[in-house]
Amino acid sequence: MHSFAYKNGSLHCENVNLADIAAAVGTPVFVYSRKTISDDLAEFRSSMAGLDAHIAYAVKACSNKAILNLMARQGAGFDIVSGGELWRVINAGGDPTQCTYAGVAKTEPEIRYALEQKIYCFNCESENELREINRIAGEMGVKAPVAVRVNPHVDAHTHKYITTGTNENKFGVDITRIESVYATIAAEMPNLHIKGLQIHIGSQLTEVQPFTTAVEKMLPIVKKFIAMYGIEFFSIGGGIGIVYDGCLESGKPEWWAAHPEQITIKSYADALIPLLKPLGIKILLEPGRRLVGNAAALLTTCIYEKKGEAKTFKMIDAGMNDIIRPALYEGYHEIWPVKEHCGDEIVADIVGPICESGDFQAQNRRIADVKPGEVLAELSAGAYGFSMASTYNSRPLAAEVLVDGDKWSIIRRRQTLEQMVQDECLPE
Ligand SMILES: *Cc1c(COP(=O)(O)O)cnc(C)c1O
Repeated sequence: MHSFAYKNGSLHCENVNLADIAAAVGTPVFVYSRKTISDDLAEFRSSMAGLDAHIAYAVKACSNKAILNLMARQGAGFDIVSGGELWRVINAGGDPTQCTYAGVAKTEPEIRYALEQKIYCFNCESENELREINRIAGEMGVKAPVAVRVNPHVDAHTHKYITTGTNENKFGVDITRIESVYATIAAEMPNLHIKGLQIHIGSQLTEVQPFTTAVEKMLPIVKKFIAMYGIEFFSIGGGIGIVYDGCLESGKPEWWAAHPEQITIKSYADALIPLLKPLGIKILLEPGRRLVGNAAALLTTCIYEKKGEAKTFKMIDAGMNDIIRPALYEGYHEIWPVKEHCGDEIVADIVGPICESGDFQAQNRRIADVKPGEVLAELSAGAYGFSMASTYNSRPLAAEVLVDGDKWSIIRRRQTLEQMVQDECLPE
């Protein structure tokens, strides 16, 4: 349950009026709720209590130092996809020995760095990657812990850009080949230590069934590998979806009672624990979106309105460079005025300042008839929001704020124009 709600006619995050943050910091600004993140992490823990379960937060969803530090202090490990993310985790106070490292194109410097930092395990995505890690570990005189990511051929019923578990994806090793790949590691790669097995079938899954199907398909292989190689963990990846359309209402328990079909941490745990418990090994979970997605809003100001022949546009000061989800994979975000309106709805497109027709945050959306100068909150902006931001159109990166009860702090200062160009130089 998230912590965004109207109180006394103004949208709040926990006990802080979002209008106050917009006035003090300016817009666009991402505002995160500490309570939402902490509660959801704690819920993961308690729901999985029947298992030897460990959470490796998927850093790419939101990698701000303060957010990583919050996760680390609550005992989470991390799922990383680059040397840069490993550096971030360490810099934020996280423990590298609690990190799993995924990704299809790990480079030699990244592999060396991860071995030096003694990460928990490499989750490998191809035989050539395994050979490369074996070679580098040999040179360094160490044994590299590895698991292979299996592609189990399960349709995650999600957007085509974020489905990863079918045989048309670049990720993982095909389930039909996994036994021979493990046999090859055991026979030919002496500098690798087979530590586990991994799957991750996609992101923003709103039903439990693809998860159970994938795990059921994997069980015989996991059991075999426990017996043959003594693997100590099975990672079931991340991918639990959040509520985008209905986000504001889903801050209340009544919404959940009326939407029993929506995946929850509990329904996920209840379906998977009976399958996983008999394995008797460590289970790794790699949630990203579910821990931070509903925990933030992007505040933006309405700059102009334009009534065209066919459409009404509301132009805002946040663009696809700040949050690319609508442009990249038709992501849906609820947009609410911070100052509550009543009864003046219109249908409009909410569009940003970027010179791209794909730069919209909402199309044909029924929304309050906000006027220039008013602040809007784009909800569920915590995952794959700031972490995908760019300076396209020479727009400095937005600020980030963390709310805790009735206090708030800046956790990323707004980028200045000087900072934006500081690494550019003229040729000799
Ligand atoms: C992105 C990713 C995750 C997290 O996915 P969410 O949908 O954000 O939970 C977990 N594991 C791997 C390997 C990933 O690439």
